[in-house]
Amino acid sequence: MEFRNTLSFAQKLDAEDALAGYRQAFHFPKVEGKEVIYFTGNSLGLQPKSAQKFVDDIMADWKDMAVEGHFYAEKPWWDYHERLAAPLAKVVGARVEEITVMNTLTVNLHLLMVSFYRPTKKRFKILCEEKAFPSDQYMFQSQARFHGLDPEDAIVEVKKREGEHFWRTEDVVAQIEALGEALALVLIGGVNYYNGQVFDMETITKAGRAEGAFVGWDLAHAAGNVELKLHDWGADFAAWCSYKYMNSGPGNASGVFINKRHLGQKHVPRFEGWWGTKKETRFLMKPEFEPMENADAWQISNPPVLALAPYLASLQMFEEVGMEALIAKRIKIVSYLEFVLREIDKEVKGSFEIITPNDRGCQLSVFLHGQGKSIFHYLMKHGVVVDWREPNVIRLAPAPFYSTFEDMYRFGQILKKGINET
Ligand SMILES: *Cc1c(COP(=O)(O)O)cnc(C)c1O
Repeated sequence: MEFRNTLSFAQKLDAEDALAGYRQAFHFPKVEGKEVIYFTGNSLGLQPKSAQKFVDDIMADWKDMAVEGHFYAEKPWWDYHERLAAPLAKVVGARVEEITVMNTLTVNLHLLMVSFYRPTKKRFKILCEEKAFPSDQYMFQSQARFHGLDPEDAIVEVKKREGEHFWRTEDVVAQIEALGEALALVLIGGVNYYNGQVFDMETITKAGRAEGAFVGWDLAHAAGNVELKLHDWGADFAAWCSYKYMNSGPGNASGVFINKRHLGQKHVPRFEGWWGTKKETRFLMKPEFEPMENADAWQISNPPVLALAPYLASLQMFEEVGMEALIAKRIKIVSYLEFVLREIDKEVKGSFEIITPNDRGCQLSVFLHGQGKSIFHYLMKHGVVVDWREPNVIRLAPAPFYSTFEDMYRFGQILKKGINET
């Protein structure tokens, strides 16, 4: 499609957008009385208007029923988390039994490493991407030390090539093959938080498994953003937070995928608690642990129901719309944003560069060559919510649920003015 950088063209795209109605299903912050142009759904998604009622329902049940709410609330609390598994399975391409929701992301990745990072003298290397999200780096280092290993020795980072802003799949695969029998675990962010690159998860998963390693994915920036087929790809495990593209609210619970081939086993190394033991016999308070047949075997504590409520509200919208429609809109709106940026770039020559490769999701990372942080402050002041990453990058992530083509056009005009005026 031929794009045009005009207000009327952007409005025409909005008029044709099947998801346009969803914008009013979210609360928008305002700057000087006007709804902002929100580009940080990759950091904290907006609040679905339906979330409030889900939380209020729990508060009301707690008020009226107290302990009885565990079993007799309309949505009983003791198995509240189970309601999230089916919609999430569709979002990440899994079987329902492969999904559970618990804790927060880094905690879950640690717990999954308990099961899937079991270094031996020969096989002990962890492969990740260079400059992985800091929490993941701290996790790898502390896991290595926990096992009595030197992090320098245990952790191998796949580098980008000199002068390039992205990782090449062939370099990841070559590294996997070079490590061979020394490779214990591949654990990479499926969509990189900094440059927005989508890794070729299928190829990398297959390459890692072919060497006999476990392969897991940190899907913080991937869940609700790009197409995932965790089961078919054969990934061993994955985890994601829900407050980015999944719009569940600040610091909210993390989703977990554990491949079917690891389920229903009693002697998987795993940190266990009472919510992982069989439901049918849980309250007999027996000393032996009998794992749930599904990924819930990894559940340790009873579910944080007040947190799960807004997550469930959000998942109802994912269920209604489906990933296919979200992805179709995403491709179009990100292409339009890129077009607008390139048009503006012609007018303000040499001021910025898109560093996100073509394998991308919602996010475009833009390296500012001229003015740096002054542009960021200008945008924020003029109602465009973006985020800033050192040394000179702003990240723009339109969210297919609530961003409009008109937002993209208006953003371009504000950016041009900002570059000319600061
Ligand atoms: C956002 C993000 C996290 C956040 O971790 P929490 O444990 O939820 O604080 C972890 N990893 C990546 C790659 C992220 O983008």
